[in-house]
Formats: sequence, C-alpha cells, structure tokens
Amino acid sequence: MVLNKHYYYDEIFQDIKELSLTCTDFTTWRILGTSHDEREIPMIRIGLGMDSLVLTAGIHGRESVNPVLLTKLAEEYCQAYCDDSKIEGYPVRELLNKCSLCVIPLVNPDGYETALRGYNMIRNPILRQLCKMRGIGAEHWKYNARGVDINRNFPCKSYIQQQLGEYPASENETQALMRVFEEYETVGYIDFHSRGRIIYYYRQAMPFSYNQHNHKLARYMQKLSDYSIGKREEEYLSHLNGGTPVNYYSELLQKPAITVETVEETAGFPLDPSYQEKTYREIHALPLEIINKT
Ligand SMILES: [Zn+2]
Repeated sequence: MVLNKHYYYDEIFQDIKELSLTCTDFTTWRILGTSHDEREIPMIRIGLGMDSLVLTAGIHGRESVNPVLLTKLAEEYCQAYCDDSKIEGYPVRELLNKCSLCVIPLVNPDGYETALRGYNMIRNPILRQLCKMRGIGAEHWKYNARGVDINRNFPCKSYIQQQLGEYPASENETQALMRVFEEYETVGYIDFHSRGRIIYYYRQAMPFSYNQHNHKLARYMQKLSDYSIGKREEEYLSHLNGGTPVNYYSELLQKPAITVETVEETAGFPLDPSYQEKTYREIHALPLEIINKT
C-alpha cells in the first residue's frame, strides 16, 4: 500500500483479506458484522499471542486518514513478522507472539464511503434520503448510514440518547466491535480518531488507579508521537463525550483504553491524503510500545 492517496472501502477490505491469506501462519481474518448499508466489517488478527491489543479506526466516516494507516500498519507488521525484523527497534515477532493485535481499520464503512464519495454511496434509498435530509455536506459526514454517531452509541455510564430510534448498542457497527471485546482475551484498546494530535486517557467512570495507569501508557505514547496529552476536563466536561467505545471498554474490562487523535485540529474535511505519510510515522510504533509496556 502506497501512502498519500485515497483508498476506498473495497480496496481496504481486499488488502486486509489478501494480507491474511498471504500470512496464514500467524494471522486470522474475519468479518465482525455488516453495516446498515450492508458492508462487511473486516478484522485481521496478527500474532500468536493468546492476548490481544485491539486497534480501531474509521468510527467517524469523515476521518479518512486512519483507516488507511491501520491497513498500512497491518501490512508493515506482517512483513516484519515474516522477516523477523524490527520496527523502530521493537522486535515485532517476539512482541506479537506475546500479545497479538486485533486490527479493525474501518468500523464504519458506510460513513467512510459517504465522506469520500458522496451520499450516492448509500445504496439503501430510504437511508440515503434520511442522511441527505440532515443537510450536512457529505465530506463532513461522521455518522453511519442511519445517521447515528457510533462514537456515542456504546452502552457505558455516560451514554446519552442522540435521536429517536437510537439506543445503547442499537447499531450494527457498535455490536460488531462489542463482539471483539467479548470474544477475545484483550489487554487494552486504542481507538484512532482525527482531531488535534492529542492522546486522551482519562475515563471518568474509572477509579484513580485505573487512570493513573492509563496516564502512564499515554505518556509513553506521547514520547513516540510527540502528540500532547488531553486534559481530564476536556474528556468529561463535554456532554457530547458520552457513549464512546473507550469508555465502554474500560468499564467492561477495567483495562487500558486510549483515544489517539491524529492530524492537527485545523485540518479541513475532506482530509488531504498528504496527511497519511507524516501521520503514519507518528503512530506506527505506538501499538508495539504498548505491548512492550504491558
Ligand atoms: Zn472521531
């Protein structure tokens, strides 16, 4: 995969699938579920470690840089695993045999396609019409094909209903991700978004000791990425922050859950693909560092 260009959903899907079929010795591939506009949500698990670290991107449709980066990351890690080579000094095979990675590059494929290519990408005419009626420019679309923000749909303490017909875990995409948290033995979760080159670690519903540990991990990630660390208040003062998968994961499993926001705050949508290469350098070793420190 060459960076600094757009990739559509089909290309990401194929890439992940073929990668797994090439590296059958140490990867597995599966479909986690199907979006409301009937696109399959793929995952590749890399490594032979019994435990897994979960990585997600593309929960918000318009944040089009990270799905490409996680696909690239899966490729680079598989290559390094095959060659038994290092990435930024990290022994990839050794680390992934201690703890595998569950890589889900595109949780919300309908939103991604809409933001990249317009409302005509929603094939269901009823859903397409409902989305259009919001009056939002397609390039700003962050929701799924039912107009629901997946990042507010998880059944955690801070959940707030967004609209009629939406309730905790009402969405297919939400359920797909919850399945991973339930079915795999996981050690942590990193969710990639795109707003401001910030790492958010604070989980309001969790005890001091949990947040202390999460903060420590965020500091390691800060050193590698040169991102800043989000203030506690920024995470819980906003009423708009309820229902996120990181909150849900932390409350369900009491394990580290961190949000990494790539790309500077001023970046406009559609995100320019030229962000990919620079951003990839900032984040590609973060999962290895977390496994290393876990
Ligand atoms: Zn986001």
